[in-house]
Amino acid sequence: MTTTTGGADAVIAAARGFLGERISLNRAIREQHSRGEDTTTPTLPDAVAFVETTEEVSRLLALCHQHGVAVTPFGAGTSLEGHVNPVRAGISLDLSRMKAVLEVNEADMDCLIEPGVTRQELNAFLRDKGLFFPVDPGSHCTIGGMCATRASGTNAVRYGTIRENVLGLEVVLADGRVIETGGRTRKASNGYDLTRLFIGSEGTLGVITRIRLRLHGIPEAMSAAVCQFPMLAAAVETVIAVMQSGIPVARIELLDEDQMEACIRYSRLEGFAPLPTLFLEFHGTEAGVREQAESFEAIAGDYGAQGFAWATDAESRNRLWQARHDAYWAAVNLKPGHRGITTDVCVPISRLAEAVVGAKETARASGLTTCIVGHVGDGNFHCLILFPEGSQEGLERAWALDRAIVAQGLALGGTCSGEHGIGMGKREFLEQEHGAEALAVMRGLKASLDPRGILNPGKMFRN
Ligand SMILES: Cc1cc2nc3c(=O)[nH]c(=O)nc-3n(C[C@H](O)[C@H](O)[C@H](O)COP(=O)(O)OP(=O)(O)OC[C@H]3O[C@@H](n4cnc5c(N)ncnc54)[C@H](O)[C@@H]3O)c2cc1C
Repeated sequence: MTTTTGGADAVIAAARGFLGERISLNRAIREQHSRGEDTTTPTLPDAVAFVETTEEVSRLLALCHQHGVAVTPFGAGTSLEGHVNPVRAGISLDLSRMKAVLEVNEADMDCLIEPGVTRQELNAFLRDKGLFFPVDPGSHCTIGGMCATRASGTNAVRYGTIRENVLGLEVVLADGRVIETGGRTRKASNGYDLTRLFIGSEGTLGVITRIRLRLHGIPEAMSAAVCQFPMLAAAVETVIAVMQSGIPVARIELLDEDQMEACIRYSRLEGFAPLPTLFLEFHGTEAGVREQAESFEAIAGDYGAQGFAWATDAESRNRLWQARHDAYWAAVNLKPGHRGITTDVCVPISRLAEAVVGAKETARASGLTTCIVGHVGDGNFHCLILFPEGSQEGLERAWALDRAIVAQGLALGGTCSGEHGIGMGKREFLEQEHGAEALAVMRGLKASLDPRGILNPGKMFRN
Protein backbone atom coordinates (compact mmCIF):
# COMPACT_ATOMS: atom_id res chain seq x y z
CA MET A 1 0.00 0.00 0.00
CA THR A 2 1.44 3.39 -1.02
CA THR A 3 -0.98 5.65 0.81
CA THR A 4 0.37 8.74 2.52
CA THR A 5 -2.61 10.29 4.28
CA GLY A 6 -4.18 9.02 7.47
CA GLY A 7 -7.46 7.20 6.92
CA ALA A 8 -6.99 6.68 3.18
CA ASP A 9 -6.11 3.00 3.63
CA ALA A 10 -9.39 2.37 5.43
CA VAL A 11 -11.39 4.28 2.78
CA ILE A 12 -9.73 2.41 -0.09
CA ALA A 13 -10.25 -0.98 1.55
CA ALA A 14 -13.94 -0.28 2.21
CA ALA A 15 -14.53 1.28 -1.23
CA ARG A 16 -13.11 -1.83 -2.92
CA GLY A 17 -16.29 -3.53 -1.70
CA PHE A 18 -18.51 -1.49 -4.06
CA LEU A 19 -16.05 -0.08 -6.64
CA GLY A 20 -13.83 -3.15 -7.10
CA GLU A 21 -10.99 -2.38 -9.54
CA ARG A 22 -12.53 1.05 -10.20
CA ILE A 23 -10.61 2.43 -7.22
CA SER A 24 -7.10 2.48 -8.62
CA LEU A 25 -3.67 2.80 -7.01
CA ASN A 26 -1.92 2.60 -10.38
CA ARG A 27 0.86 5.19 -10.48
CA ALA A 28 0.27 6.31 -14.10
CA ILE A 29 -3.43 6.88 -13.36
CA ARG A 30 -2.61 8.78 -10.16
CA GLU A 31 -0.13 10.92 -12.15
CA GLN A 32 -2.86 11.74 -14.70
CA HIS A 33 -4.90 13.04 -11.76
CA SER A 34 -2.08 14.96 -10.08
CA ARG A 35 -2.92 18.31 -11.73
CA GLY A 36 -4.89 19.87 -14.60
CA GLU A 37 -3.82 22.17 -17.48
CA ASP A 38 -1.91 24.35 -15.03
CA THR A 39 1.62 24.92 -13.84
CA THR A 40 1.23 23.84 -10.20
CA THR A 41 3.61 21.23 -8.79
CA PRO A 42 1.76 17.91 -9.20
CA THR A 43 0.57 16.02 -6.09
CA LEU A 44 -0.29 12.33 -6.31
CA PRO A 45 -3.66 11.33 -4.85
CA ASP A 46 -3.59 8.14 -2.76
CA ALA A 47 -6.11 6.59 -5.16
CA VAL A 48 -8.35 7.48 -8.10
CA ALA A 49 -11.99 6.39 -7.89
CA PHE A 50 -13.88 6.02 -11.19
CA VAL A 51 -17.48 6.36 -10.03
CA GLU A 52 -20.49 5.43 -12.17
CA THR A 53 -23.55 6.19 -10.02
CA THR A 54 -24.78 8.73 -7.50
CA GLU A 55 -24.97 5.96 -4.92
CA GLU A 56 -21.27 5.19 -5.37
CA VAL A 57 -20.40 8.88 -4.93
CA SER A 58 -22.56 9.04 -1.82
CA ARG A 59 -21.03 5.91 -0.23
CA LEU A 60 -17.50 7.07 -1.02
CA LEU A 61 -18.05 10.56 0.40
CA ALA A 62 -19.63 9.15 3.55
CA LEU A 63 -16.48 7.03 4.06
CA CYS A 64 -14.13 9.96 3.39
CA HIS A 65 -16.15 12.14 5.77
CA GLN A 66 -15.96 9.47 8.47
CA HIS A 67 -12.18 9.06 8.08
CA GLY A 68 -11.34 12.72 7.34
CA VAL A 69 -9.86 11.91 3.93
CA ALA A 70 -9.62 14.60 1.23
CA VAL A 71 -11.67 14.23 -1.98
CA THR A 72 -10.90 16.13 -5.16
CA PRO A 73 -13.63 15.89 -7.83
CA PHE A 74 -12.16 15.45 -11.34
CA GLY A 75 -13.99 15.92 -14.65
CA ALA A 76 -11.63 16.13 -17.64
CA GLY A 77 -8.78 17.94 -15.84
CA THR A 78 -8.75 20.91 -18.25
CA SER A 79 -9.05 23.60 -15.57
CA LEU A 80 -6.31 26.19 -15.55
CA GLU A 81 -5.84 27.31 -11.93
CA GLY A 82 -4.69 24.19 -10.07
CA HIS A 83 -8.30 23.17 -9.33
CA VAL A 84 -7.80 19.39 -9.54
CA ASN A 85 -4.40 19.18 -7.87
CA PRO A 86 -5.12 16.96 -4.83
CA VAL A 87 -2.90 19.00 -2.51
CA ARG A 88 -3.86 16.87 0.51
CA ALA A 89 -3.69 13.61 -1.45
CA GLY A 90 -6.66 11.38 -0.53
CA ILE A 91 -9.09 10.40 -3.30
CA SER A 92 -9.30 11.90 -6.77
CA LEU A 93 -12.97 11.36 -7.63
CA ASP A 94 -13.16 10.90 -11.41
CA LEU A 95 -16.70 11.56 -12.74
CA SER A 96 -15.86 11.25 -16.44
CA ARG A 97 -17.58 7.84 -16.75
CA MET A 98 -20.95 9.26 -15.67
CA LYS A 99 -21.96 9.95 -19.26
CA ALA A 100 -25.68 9.27 -19.57
CA VAL A 101 -28.11 11.69 -21.21
CA LEU A 102 -31.07 10.72 -19.02
CA GLU A 103 -33.89 12.82 -20.52
CA VAL A 104 -34.46 15.29 -23.34
CA ASN A 105 -37.74 17.23 -23.15
CA GLU A 106 -38.09 18.74 -26.60
CA ALA A 107 -41.30 20.64 -25.80
CA ASP A 108 -39.77 22.38 -22.78
CA MET A 109 -36.30 22.58 -24.29
CA ASP A 110 -34.47 21.05 -21.34
CA CYS A 111 -32.51 17.89 -20.60
CA LEU A 112 -31.13 15.93 -17.67
CA ILE A 113 -27.57 14.64 -17.92
CA GLU A 114 -24.83 13.09 -15.82
CA PRO A 115 -21.78 15.27 -15.12
CA GLY A 116 -19.25 13.43 -17.31
CA VAL A 117 -21.03 14.35 -20.57
CA THR A 118 -19.06 16.88 -22.64
CA ARG A 119 -20.75 19.68 -24.57
CA GLN A 120 -19.54 18.12 -27.84
CA GLU A 121 -21.19 14.80 -26.87
CA LEU A 122 -24.41 16.51 -25.81
CA ASN A 123 -24.63 18.50 -29.05
CA ALA A 124 -23.99 15.38 -31.15
CA PHE A 125 -26.84 13.70 -29.23
CA LEU A 126 -29.19 16.68 -29.80
CA ARG A 127 -28.33 17.37 -33.44
CA ASP A 128 -31.39 15.72 -35.04
CA LYS A 129 -33.79 17.28 -32.52
CA GLY A 130 -33.24 20.86 -33.71
CA LEU A 131 -31.85 21.82 -30.29
CA PHE A 132 -28.41 22.76 -29.02
CA PHE A 133 -26.52 23.53 -25.83
CA PRO A 134 -24.63 26.80 -26.37
CA VAL A 135 -21.99 27.04 -23.63
CA ASP A 136 -18.72 26.28 -25.43
CA PRO A 137 -15.36 26.50 -23.64
CA GLY A 138 -12.43 25.90 -25.99
CA SER A 139 -11.59 22.54 -24.40
CA HIS A 140 -12.97 19.02 -24.23
CA CYS A 141 -14.26 19.42 -20.69
CA THR A 142 -17.15 17.82 -18.84
CA ILE A 143 -20.38 19.70 -18.18
CA GLY A 144 -19.96 18.82 -14.47
CA GLY A 145 -16.58 20.59 -14.53
CA MET A 146 -18.17 23.53 -16.36
CA CYS A 147 -20.81 23.83 -13.62
CA ALA A 148 -18.14 23.63 -10.93
CA THR A 149 -16.03 26.40 -12.53
CA ARG A 150 -18.97 28.55 -13.73
CA ALA A 151 -17.59 28.28 -17.24
CA SER A 152 -18.55 30.11 -20.40
CA GLY A 153 -17.36 30.45 -23.96
CA THR A 154 -17.83 32.27 -27.22
CA ASN A 155 -21.66 32.13 -27.17
CA ALA A 156 -22.10 33.67 -23.72
CA VAL A 157 -22.71 37.15 -25.07
CA ARG A 158 -26.02 35.91 -26.57
CA TYR A 159 -26.95 32.76 -24.61
CA GLY A 160 -25.34 33.36 -21.20
CA THR A 161 -22.78 31.37 -19.23
CA ILE A 162 -23.35 27.96 -17.65
CA ARG A 163 -24.98 29.83 -14.74
CA GLU A 164 -27.86 30.99 -16.93
CA ASN A 165 -28.22 27.58 -18.57
CA VAL A 166 -28.56 25.31 -15.54
CA LEU A 167 -32.08 24.79 -14.17
CA GLY A 168 -31.19 22.39 -11.37
CA LEU A 169 -28.69 19.96 -9.93
CA GLU A 170 -28.37 16.77 -7.96
CA VAL A 171 -25.52 17.17 -5.47
CA VAL A 172 -23.86 14.76 -3.06
CA LEU A 173 -22.81 16.60 0.09
CA ALA A 174 -19.55 15.99 1.94
CA ASP A 175 -21.17 13.52 4.38
CA GLY A 176 -22.85 11.52 1.58
CA ARG A 177 -26.36 13.09 1.75
CA VAL A 178 -27.93 13.63 -1.68
CA ILE A 179 -29.95 16.77 -2.43
CA GLU A 180 -31.75 18.17 -5.46
CA THR A 181 -31.73 21.87 -6.24
CA GLY A 182 -33.79 23.97 -8.66
CA GLY A 183 -36.42 22.42 -10.91
CA ARG A 184 -37.78 22.37 -14.45
CA THR A 185 -39.47 25.77 -14.58
CA ARG A 186 -37.88 28.75 -16.28
CA LYS A 187 -38.35 30.81 -13.16
CA ALA A 188 -38.98 30.15 -9.49
CA SER A 189 -39.08 32.25 -6.34
CA ASN A 190 -38.98 29.42 -3.86
CA GLY A 191 -36.25 29.74 -1.29
CA TYR A 192 -32.50 30.11 -1.31
CA ASP A 193 -31.01 29.52 -4.75
CA LEU A 194 -28.88 26.48 -3.96
CA THR A 195 -28.28 25.79 -7.65
CA ARG A 196 -26.34 29.04 -7.98
CA LEU A 197 -24.46 28.26 -4.76
CA PHE A 198 -23.00 25.10 -6.27
CA ILE A 199 -22.36 26.64 -9.70
CA GLY A 200 -18.79 27.93 -9.42
CA SER A 201 -18.08 26.20 -6.10
CA GLU A 202 -15.13 24.33 -7.65
CA GLY A 203 -15.84 21.01 -5.95
CA THR A 204 -15.45 22.59 -2.48
CA LEU A 205 -19.12 22.34 -1.37
CA GLY A 206 -20.47 19.15 -2.96
CA VAL A 207 -20.17 16.77 -5.89
CA ILE A 208 -22.56 17.38 -8.80
CA THR A 209 -24.03 14.08 -10.03
CA ARG A 210 -26.92 15.24 -12.25
CA ILE A 211 -27.52 18.45 -14.18
CA ARG A 212 -30.73 19.79 -15.68
CA LEU A 213 -29.86 22.11 -18.56
CA ARG A 214 -31.74 24.64 -20.64
CA LEU A 215 -31.48 23.99 -24.36
CA HIS A 216 -31.98 26.34 -27.29
CA GLY A 217 -33.46 25.97 -30.77
CA ILE A 218 -30.91 25.87 -33.61
CA PRO A 219 -31.37 29.25 -35.35
CA GLU A 220 -32.84 29.40 -38.84
CA ALA A 221 -29.83 31.32 -40.17
CA MET A 222 -26.26 31.87 -38.99
CA SER A 223 -23.55 33.99 -40.47
CA ALA A 224 -19.94 34.31 -39.33
CA ALA A 225 -17.49 37.04 -40.23
CA VAL A 226 -13.91 38.05 -39.68
CA CYS A 227 -12.59 41.58 -39.99
CA GLN A 228 -9.23 43.12 -39.25
CA PHE A 229 -8.07 46.43 -37.79
CA PRO A 230 -4.86 48.42 -38.05
CA MET A 231 -4.84 49.06 -34.26
CA LEU A 232 -5.83 47.00 -31.22
CA ALA A 233 -7.71 49.94 -29.67
CA ALA A 234 -9.89 50.30 -32.80
CA ALA A 235 -10.94 46.64 -32.64
CA VAL A 236 -11.92 46.98 -28.97
CA GLU A 237 -13.71 50.31 -29.50
CA THR A 238 -15.75 48.59 -32.22
CA VAL A 239 -16.83 45.91 -29.74
CA ILE A 240 -17.89 48.52 -27.18
CA ALA A 241 -19.88 50.46 -29.79
CA VAL A 242 -21.56 47.26 -31.08
CA MET A 243 -22.55 46.15 -27.58
CA GLN A 244 -23.84 49.61 -26.69
CA SER A 245 -25.88 49.76 -29.92
CA GLY A 246 -27.79 46.63 -28.90
CA ILE A 247 -27.01 44.52 -32.00
CA PRO A 248 -27.73 40.99 -30.71
CA VAL A 249 -24.41 39.43 -31.77
CA ALA A 250 -24.17 35.73 -30.94
CA ARG A 251 -20.38 35.75 -30.72
CA ILE A 252 -17.78 38.51 -30.85
CA GLU A 253 -14.20 37.49 -30.17
CA LEU A 254 -10.96 39.45 -30.28
CA LEU A 255 -7.57 38.11 -31.32
CA ASP A 256 -4.62 40.50 -31.08
CA GLU A 257 -1.87 40.59 -33.70
CA ASP A 258 0.31 37.99 -31.92
CA GLN A 259 -2.60 35.61 -31.39
CA MET A 260 -3.64 36.07 -35.01
CA GLU A 261 -0.13 35.25 -36.19
CA ALA A 262 -0.24 32.10 -34.04
CA CYS A 263 -3.65 31.06 -35.45
CA ILE A 264 -2.63 31.73 -39.07
CA ARG A 265 0.32 29.37 -38.60
CA TYR A 266 -1.38 26.71 -36.45
CA SER A 267 -4.76 26.54 -38.20
CA ARG A 268 -3.41 27.45 -41.68
CA LEU A 269 -5.84 30.36 -41.95
CA GLU A 270 -5.41 31.81 -45.42
CA GLY A 271 -6.10 35.36 -46.59
CA PHE A 272 -5.52 37.04 -43.21
CA ALA A 273 -2.74 39.26 -41.91
CA PRO A 274 -1.27 39.20 -38.38
CA LEU A 275 -3.40 42.17 -37.30
CA PRO A 276 -5.92 42.72 -34.48
CA THR A 277 -8.98 40.77 -35.61
CA LEU A 278 -12.61 40.26 -34.63
CA PHE A 279 -14.38 36.95 -35.19
CA LEU A 280 -18.14 37.29 -34.96
CA GLU A 281 -21.37 35.46 -35.61
CA PHE A 282 -25.03 36.42 -35.98
CA HIS A 283 -28.03 34.15 -35.37
CA GLY A 284 -31.67 34.64 -36.32
CA THR A 285 -33.88 34.66 -39.37
CA GLU A 286 -32.34 35.21 -42.83
CA ALA A 287 -33.52 38.84 -42.83
CA GLY A 288 -32.51 39.44 -39.19
CA VAL A 289 -29.01 38.11 -39.72
CA ARG A 290 -28.58 40.27 -42.85
CA GLU A 291 -29.73 43.36 -40.95
CA GLN A 292 -27.41 42.66 -37.99
CA ALA A 293 -24.47 42.12 -40.34
CA GLU A 294 -25.12 45.42 -42.14
CA SER A 295 -25.36 47.36 -38.86
CA PHE A 296 -22.13 45.75 -37.67
CA GLU A 297 -20.26 46.56 -40.90
CA ALA A 298 -21.31 50.20 -40.65
CA ILE A 299 -19.98 50.53 -37.08
CA ALA A 300 -16.78 48.58 -37.72
CA GLY A 301 -16.13 50.62 -40.88
CA ASP A 302 -16.11 53.79 -38.77
CA TYR A 303 -13.23 52.29 -36.74
CA GLY A 304 -11.20 51.36 -39.82
CA ALA A 305 -12.15 47.68 -40.19
CA GLN A 306 -10.92 46.08 -43.37
CA GLY A 307 -10.94 42.76 -45.21
CA PHE A 308 -14.40 41.54 -44.18
CA ALA A 309 -14.67 37.79 -44.87
CA TRP A 310 -18.16 36.28 -44.48
CA ALA A 311 -18.94 32.61 -44.01
CA THR A 312 -22.54 31.42 -44.18
CA ASP A 313 -22.16 27.69 -44.96
CA ALA A 314 -21.65 25.39 -42.00
CA GLU A 315 -18.28 24.07 -43.16
CA SER A 316 -16.56 27.47 -43.47
CA ARG A 317 -18.15 28.69 -40.23
CA ASN A 318 -16.95 25.61 -38.37
CA ARG A 319 -13.43 26.05 -39.78
CA LEU A 320 -13.26 29.62 -38.53
CA TRP A 321 -14.57 28.76 -35.08
CA GLN A 322 -12.34 25.72 -34.79
CA ALA A 323 -9.40 28.08 -35.36
CA ARG A 324 -10.74 30.32 -32.59
CA HIS A 325 -11.23 27.37 -30.24
CA ASP A 326 -7.67 26.19 -30.96
CA ALA A 327 -6.25 29.63 -30.08
CA TYR A 328 -4.70 28.38 -26.81
CA TRP A 329 -2.79 25.57 -28.57
CA ALA A 330 -1.86 27.91 -31.42
CA ALA A 331 -0.32 30.36 -28.94
CA VAL A 332 1.57 27.65 -27.04
CA ASN A 333 2.96 26.39 -30.37
CA LEU A 334 4.19 29.86 -31.34
CA LYS A 335 7.42 29.24 -29.43
CA PRO A 336 8.56 25.60 -29.31
CA GLY A 337 9.70 24.49 -25.84
CA HIS A 338 7.43 27.00 -24.12
CA ARG A 339 4.37 26.65 -21.90
CA GLY A 340 1.73 29.22 -21.10
CA ILE A 341 -0.27 30.62 -18.23
CA THR A 342 -3.40 32.57 -18.95
CA THR A 343 -5.09 35.52 -17.30
CA ASP A 344 -8.91 35.74 -17.20
CA VAL A 345 -9.68 39.38 -16.40
CA CYS A 346 -13.23 40.61 -17.00
CA VAL A 347 -14.14 44.31 -16.83
CA PRO A 348 -17.27 46.40 -17.34
CA ILE A 349 -17.63 46.77 -21.11
CA SER A 350 -17.05 50.55 -21.04
CA ARG A 351 -13.53 49.96 -19.59
CA LEU A 352 -12.56 47.21 -22.02
CA ALA A 353 -10.34 49.30 -24.30
CA GLU A 354 -8.28 50.58 -21.35
CA ALA A 355 -7.99 47.06 -19.96
CA VAL A 356 -6.93 45.32 -23.19
CA VAL A 357 -4.60 48.03 -24.46
CA GLY A 358 -3.12 48.46 -20.96
CA ALA A 359 -2.54 44.69 -20.67
CA LYS A 360 -0.80 44.60 -24.05
CA GLU A 361 1.50 47.49 -23.08
CA THR A 362 2.35 45.86 -19.74
CA ALA A 363 3.04 42.57 -21.51
CA ARG A 364 5.30 44.26 -24.07
CA ALA A 365 7.25 46.00 -21.31
CA SER A 366 7.79 42.64 -19.58
CA GLY A 367 9.55 41.21 -22.64
CA LEU A 368 7.45 38.00 -22.46
CA THR A 369 5.60 36.89 -25.60
CA THR A 370 1.91 37.32 -24.82
CA CYS A 371 -1.08 36.62 -27.05
CA ILE A 372 -4.46 38.17 -26.29
CA VAL A 373 -7.71 36.44 -27.11
CA GLY A 374 -11.04 37.36 -25.61
CA HIS A 375 -14.75 36.91 -25.28
CA VAL A 376 -14.84 40.65 -25.56
CA GLY A 377 -18.62 41.01 -25.86
CA ASP A 378 -18.68 40.11 -22.16
CA GLY A 379 -15.67 42.29 -21.26
CA ASN A 380 -13.58 39.13 -20.72
CA PHE A 381 -10.12 38.57 -22.25
CA HIS A 382 -7.19 36.21 -21.78
CA CYS A 383 -3.50 37.06 -22.02
CA LEU A 384 -1.64 33.85 -22.75
CA ILE A 385 1.85 34.44 -21.36
CA LEU A 386 4.60 32.18 -22.72
CA PHE A 387 7.65 31.12 -20.71
CA PRO A 388 10.37 28.53 -21.35
CA GLU A 389 9.20 25.11 -20.15
CA GLY A 390 11.06 24.02 -17.00
CA SER A 391 12.37 27.53 -16.19
CA GLN A 392 11.41 28.53 -12.64
CA GLU A 393 12.59 32.06 -13.30
CA GLY A 394 10.48 32.21 -16.48
CA LEU A 395 7.44 30.92 -14.59
CA GLU A 396 7.90 33.53 -11.84
CA ARG A 397 8.18 36.32 -14.42
CA ALA A 398 5.02 35.04 -16.10
CA TRP A 399 3.14 35.03 -12.78
CA ALA A 400 4.40 38.56 -12.00
CA LEU A 401 2.98 39.72 -15.34
CA ASP A 402 -0.27 37.86 -14.67
CA ARG A 403 -0.61 39.64 -11.30
CA ALA A 404 0.15 43.04 -12.86
CA ILE A 405 -2.56 42.54 -15.53
CA VAL A 406 -5.08 41.40 -12.89
CA ALA A 407 -4.26 44.46 -10.76
CA GLN A 408 -4.97 46.71 -13.76
CA GLY A 409 -8.29 44.91 -14.34
CA LEU A 410 -9.32 45.26 -10.68
CA ALA A 411 -8.49 48.97 -10.74
CA LEU A 412 -10.97 49.31 -13.63
CA GLY A 413 -13.78 47.74 -11.58
CA GLY A 414 -13.18 44.25 -12.99
CA THR A 415 -12.65 40.77 -11.63
CA CYS A 416 -9.63 38.44 -11.66
CA SER A 417 -11.72 35.70 -13.26
CA GLY A 418 -14.58 35.89 -15.73
CA GLU A 419 -14.80 32.13 -16.27
CA HIS A 420 -11.78 30.03 -15.24
CA GLY A 421 -12.33 30.30 -11.49
CA ILE A 422 -10.10 30.73 -8.44
CA GLY A 423 -8.51 27.32 -7.80
CA MET A 424 -5.06 27.90 -6.32
CA GLY A 425 -3.83 30.48 -8.83
CA LYS A 426 -6.23 33.33 -8.01
CA ARG A 427 -6.75 32.83 -4.25
CA GLU A 428 -4.86 35.99 -3.37
CA PHE A 429 -7.43 38.16 -5.16
CA LEU A 430 -10.55 36.82 -3.48
CA GLU A 431 -10.46 39.01 -0.37
CA GLN A 432 -9.29 41.98 -2.41
CA GLU A 433 -12.40 41.68 -4.62
CA HIS A 434 -15.02 40.78 -2.02
CA GLY A 435 -13.71 42.17 1.28
CA ALA A 436 -13.04 40.37 4.57
CA GLU A 437 -16.69 40.14 5.68
CA ALA A 438 -17.92 38.56 2.45
CA LEU A 439 -15.00 36.14 2.56
CA ALA A 440 -15.96 35.18 6.12
CA VAL A 441 -19.52 34.43 4.89
CA MET A 442 -18.06 32.21 2.13
CA ARG A 443 -15.93 30.37 4.70
CA GLY A 444 -19.00 29.96 6.91
CA LEU A 445 -20.92 28.34 4.04
CA LYS A 446 -18.00 26.02 3.40
CA ALA A 447 -17.81 25.06 7.10
CA SER A 448 -21.55 24.38 7.33
CA LEU A 449 -21.63 22.15 4.22
CA ASP A 450 -18.23 20.50 4.69
CA PRO A 451 -17.40 20.70 8.43
CA ARG A 452 -14.40 18.37 8.16
CA GLY A 453 -12.96 20.29 5.20
CA ILE A 454 -12.55 17.19 3.01
CA LEU A 455 -13.86 18.60 -0.28
CA ASN A 456 -11.13 19.91 -2.56
CA PRO A 457 -9.05 21.46 0.23
CA GLY A 458 -6.66 24.30 -0.57
CA LYS A 459 -8.81 25.68 -3.39
CA MET A 460 -10.60 29.03 -3.34
CA PHE A 461 -9.23 29.70 0.20
CA ARG A 462 -5.66 29.06 1.36
CA ASN A 463 -7.24 26.84 4.01
C1 LIG B 1 -7.48 24.96 -24.32
C2 LIG B 1 -8.39 25.38 -23.22
C3 LIG B 1 -9.41 26.27 -23.49
C4 LIG B 1 -10.30 26.65 -22.48
N1 LIG B 1 -11.29 27.54 -22.79
C5 LIG B 1 -12.18 27.88 -21.83
C6 LIG B 1 -13.25 28.77 -22.13
O1 LIG B 1 -13.40 29.25 -23.25
N2 LIG B 1 -14.12 29.08 -21.14
C7 LIG B 1 -13.99 28.56 -19.88
O2 LIG B 1 -14.82 28.86 -19.02
N3 LIG B 1 -12.96 27.73 -19.56
C8 LIG B 1 -12.07 27.37 -20.49
N4 LIG B 1 -11.04 26.52 -20.18
C9 LIG B 1 -10.91 26.02 -18.81
C10 LIG B 1 -11.60 24.66 -18.54
O3 LIG B 1 -11.82 23.92 -19.73
C11 LIG B 1 -12.90 24.88 -17.77
O4 LIG B 1 -12.60 25.40 -16.50
C12 LIG B 1 -13.78 23.64 -17.62
O5 LIG B 1 -15.03 24.05 -17.10
C13 LIG B 1 -13.19 22.57 -16.70
O6 LIG B 1 -13.94 21.37 -16.88
P1 LIG B 1 -13.28 19.94 -16.59
O7 LIG B 1 -14.29 18.90 -16.88
O8 LIG B 1 -11.99 19.81 -17.28
O9 LIG B 1 -13.08 20.07 -15.02
P2 LIG B 1 -11.82 19.72 -14.14
O10 LIG B 1 -10.64 20.48 -14.60
O11 LIG B 1 -11.68 18.25 -14.05
O12 LIG B 1 -12.32 20.30 -12.74
C14 LIG B 1 -12.50 21.67 -12.56
C15 LIG B 1 -13.04 21.95 -11.16
O13 LIG B 1 -14.35 21.43 -11.05
C16 LIG B 1 -14.45 20.46 -10.01
N5 LIG B 1 -15.36 19.43 -10.52
C17 LIG B 1 -15.27 18.74 -11.68
N6 LIG B 1 -16.35 17.96 -11.84
C18 LIG B 1 -17.15 18.16 -10.75
C19 LIG B 1 -18.40 17.66 -10.32
N7 LIG B 1 -19.10 16.79 -11.05
N8 LIG B 1 -18.91 18.08 -9.13
C20 LIG B 1 -18.24 18.99 -8.39
N9 LIG B 1 -17.06 19.51 -8.74
C21 LIG B 1 -16.52 19.10 -9.91
C22 LIG B 1 -13.03 20.01 -9.76
O14 LIG B 1 -12.83 19.58 -8.43
C23 LIG B 1 -12.26 21.29 -10.04
O15 LIG B 1 -12.29 22.13 -8.92
C24 LIG B 1 -10.13 26.13 -21.17
C25 LIG B 1 -9.10 25.23 -20.89
C26 LIG B 1 -8.23 24.86 -21.91
C27 LIG B 1 -7.13 23.88 -21.58
